[in-house]
Amino acid sequence: MKPASRAVHAGRGGKGGMSGVPLAPDISPAAVHVYTDLDDYDAVARGERPGHYYGRNSNANRTMLEAAVAELEGAEAGVATGSGMAALHLAILALAPKPVTILTGRELYGGTLALLRLDLEPAGYEANLVDIADLESVRRGMDGAGVVLLETITNPLCRVPDLEAIIAMARKRDVPVLVDNTFASPVFCRPLELGATVVMHSVTKYLGGHSDLLAGVMVGSHALMSAARTKSVRTGTPLGPFESWLALRGMRTLDVRMRRHSDNALALARAMRTLPGVAKVYHPLLEESPSYPVASRLLANGSGGMMAFDLEGGREAVQRMMSRFQLVAFAASLGGVETTISYPEITSHRGLSPEERKELGVGPGTVRVSVGIEASEDIVADFTQALS
Ligand code: PLP
Repeated sequence: MKPASRAVHAGRGGKGGMSGVPLAPDISPAAVHVYTDLDDYDAVARGERPGHYYGRNSNANRTMLEAAVAELEGAEAGVATGSGMAALHLAILALAPKPVTILTGRELYGGTLALLRLDLEPAGYEANLVDIADLESVRRGMDGAGVVLLETITNPLCRVPDLEAIIAMARKRDVPVLVDNTFASPVFCRPLELGATVVMHSVTKYLGGHSDLLAGVMVGSHALMSAARTKSVRTGTPLGPFESWLALRGMRTLDVRMRRHSDNALALARAMRTLPGVAKVYHPLLEESPSYPVASRLLANGSGGMMAFDLEGGREAVQRMMSRFQLVAFAASLGGVETTISYPEITSHRGLSPEERKELGVGPGTVRVSVGIEASEDIVADFTQALS
């Protein structure tokens, strides 16, 4: 099946032709299943027979979601967790159960940077943060790295690392590569096909797609996912049945949503270049973007709905623009159907010092936009009137 059809049918287990099967899945909220035969229970608990016994170990809705994301990303298996951060943490622990050096970019989602600095480094891991666009620095950092961590599109300035080149370097040295594919989604990029080891998502964003759930997922080989699952069971991070059901419901429209997000973001980025007060526009598929040569190859069919811009006049100007919006909302998340803006200085990157933000290029005028699926004319019109 083509990816668009996979988004609609993934996780159903090929049951489309069976009689009496609900087209949309039922929700199974049971925390525990009853058994009358000890051998039966034992077989299910050993994984020798399909079924569920305790909700922390597995649940019908979670299993369906995990299978669906695995199918979309071209993976053998998946593990769904209570948030994207839980998935990221577990994925690192599954790839490196003992402390190693994690080679990654300086430009990362602020929560990821905080996890590295405040939780993993005190536990003995080391974060080697390099300029991910500089392949020579990446090559130098690769010697001695135990895990490479990449974002397909960086948050918030939408830069695109050369996944193919970096993954090839890592594979040569047998270093596993973990990719946060939240911004691109499997519609536009499938890092496992490029040789990555594990892919994770904040399902809260595009996979769920409607800003109404918090969830995470990771996908990879059976062996790695089995290691991650047992850690998830022990540490108690699995995703609940209702969120699993909602996420799968959202994923059915992933392909059409992502294409609309992507078209709208490019249209807004192009229009923004001429709006008053806009000092710089960040979108990987704008020809002037430093990421364009890589992005136009890696994200040939689109890059999703994320973009950013710098507004002259800093925080005060951002506040003034916000107070004039008719359609656009300020919200500290992304990936929903509505167009929203976020202000990294006090949202995703609030944990960093002003100097650290400056080094990343995030200033008091930096605004991140999650472009929604409204009519692009309405989105452009709202920014135009707010900035006029
Ligand atoms: N990865 C990226 C790129 C994100 O933007 C976020 C959240 O904003 C996360 C991971 C964490 O996801 P969650 O908020 O679902 O824990």
